Amino acid sequence: MISPVRKAVQFAALLGTNLHFSGWVTGGIFTGLSKMFFIPGLWCYSTPSSVLACPAGSLQAILASPMILGALSSGKPEALALLAPIGFIAAVGLSSGRLACGWVCPFGLVQELLNMLPLPRIRVPEGFRPLKYAMLFLFVILLPLFLRGTPGAPGDPWFCKAICPAGTALAGWPLVSMDRAGLFRTGFLFIWKSSLAVVVIVLAASVQRPFCRYLCPLGAGWGLLGKVSVLRMRVSDACVRCGRCESVCPMGIAIWKVPSSPECIRCMKCVGECPVKAISHGP
Ligand code: SF4
Ligand code: SF4
Repeated sequence: MISPVRKAVQFAALLGTNLHFSGWVTGGIFTGLSKMFFIPGLWCYSTPSSVLACPAGSLQAILASPMILGALSSGKPEALALLAPIGFIAAVGLSSGRLACGWVCPFGLVQELLNMLPLPRIRVPEGFRPLKYAMLFLFVILLPLFLRGTPGAPGDPWFCKAICPAGTALAGWPLVSMDRAGLFRTGFLFIWKSSLAVVVIVLAASVQRPFCRYLCPLGAGWGLLGKVSVLRMRVSDACVRCGRCESVCPMGIAIWKVPSSPECIRCMKCVGECPVKAISHGP
């Protein structure tokens, strides 16, 4: 019975990431020591209850820092700060690919809960899937690193600033609504991000895990690393090509055709569905 176990792990991860309950009343962001550690998933640092850091957000923050380009080009020790988020992302991906997406990521669970709403299902063209690689390489890496007003000026965490619907819905909206001191500005960017978040939330009710499929930069990185990860999915010659694995897959992939798909979140739903036990996982 994989599914109840997986749900229990997902809810435990959601709870463990959000132990600062009072943040939802005060509107304050937790800044304790645990924020030095990453959640293996996507969850905004500024969510009022969050006690952990998002690896994608931390990577952008370091890449956007004023000193990083100089430190990288001259080999200064400050560049070693990058090792923390990059090392964490690499360790998670090389060990198990997108397993964290399927079992731990709190925003993955949020989308699964939204998908339980009784709305009509829709099909999104497959051609949108590569968008998440643009999110990773352009918005998480290249723009924060190189887009600066002047040389030596700080950059911006562009994925967080212009895209992330998890950050908008679970940090931006609550913080703005509790902002009695008027600290937050809500201009064009806020309206754009709010619109994007509404689209993703509505889409999540009709498509399984749309953010994971089309936008998540962590999913993109872990998917690529998953091709060579220790834990991988395998399909044996016993497969009779019935397609039942494909019909239950939350990522809409045909593992019987592509066992090493970078889209696979290792949720193991297909393992129990296969009538001839052709699907397995392991090193
Ligand atoms: S292929 Fe199997 S393990 Fe991978 S996401 Fe689909 S159902 Fe889950
Ligand atoms: S459910 Fe099993 S037998 Fe059917 S297509 Fe998938 S791997 Fe092959």
